[in-house]
Amino acid sequence: MSAIAEAVADGKLPGRVWMYADYHCNLACTYCLTESAPKSPHRVIGRERMLEIADEAAELGFTDLGVTGGEPFLLRWLPETLASMSERLPVLVLTNGTLFTRRLLASLAPLAHRDVAMQISLDRPDPDDNDEMRGKENFRKVVEAVPRLVDQGIEVRIATTVESIEDSELDRLCALHRELGIPDEDHIIRPIVRRGRAIDHDLGVVAQQIDVPAELTVTVDGAFWSPFGPTVHDGVVDTDLLITRTTRPLSTPANALLRLVGERPEGSDVSLNIR
Ligand code: SF4
Repeated sequence: MSAIAEAVADGKLPGRVWMYADYHCNLACTYCLTESAPKSPHRVIGRERMLEIADEAAELGFTDLGVTGGEPFLLRWLPETLASMSERLPVLVLTNGTLFTRRLLASLAPLAHRDVAMQISLDRPDPDDNDEMRGKENFRKVVEAVPRLVDQGIEVRIATTVESIEDSELDRLCALHRELGIPDEDHIIRPIVRRGRAIDHDLGVVAQQIDVPAELTVTVDGAFWSPFGPTVHDGVVDTDLLITRTTRPLSTPANALLRLVGERPEGSDVSLNIR
């Protein structure tokens, strides 16, 4: 068994390897970690590279894959690629859930009943409050898309990203996700992280290396400690959580991450529940 596989099996290293599929997005949310917007530089990692990372992650002993961006579903080839990746390891893909037109839904057919789950953002139970930070029509598009995806046999999780939320508002949000077919165990609530555009809007909690799990994250710029690492501010990629510029072979950043995890003081654990 490789050192990576052993560390993952012992729970010393998280099992998921993340990749940033792109950095552009059809939205421009107030708290976006990557300052994504329609005109952001795309910085697409590429279909072949994603498949290569999936292969290498499986060989090294990682157990799961994660895909984020930007908005990954702006890449037309993504559904087929996710289906191929899921033949190696289970995949979680983060999406804003607003692009699922009938045409895109039809292209998701290869993902039905596969090991591919989608994590879709929904922050508030009221359309106006939700759309204030995420943009017009976001709420409507998401609540329309979720049951359609569920009907298509695709596993969906809901992610709520907020500074704070009143109990009564949370109760209504939970009633809504249950109505959409998403059980409580597939609803996560997480804080806004003070990186990217959140800094300019004076939002969120500061997250340092110790605060977030050591989930190997690969981008076109290198490998990072966490998907909260390769964020963008003032158009520049943050490097405070950069591990290596080299990402080939994947064992190079994976072993560097393992060394860094080993250097953590005994008994230390992440202090923010960010997923
Ligand atoms: S937070 Fe997500 S949906 Fe919003 S602009 Fe950033 S990448 Fe797009």
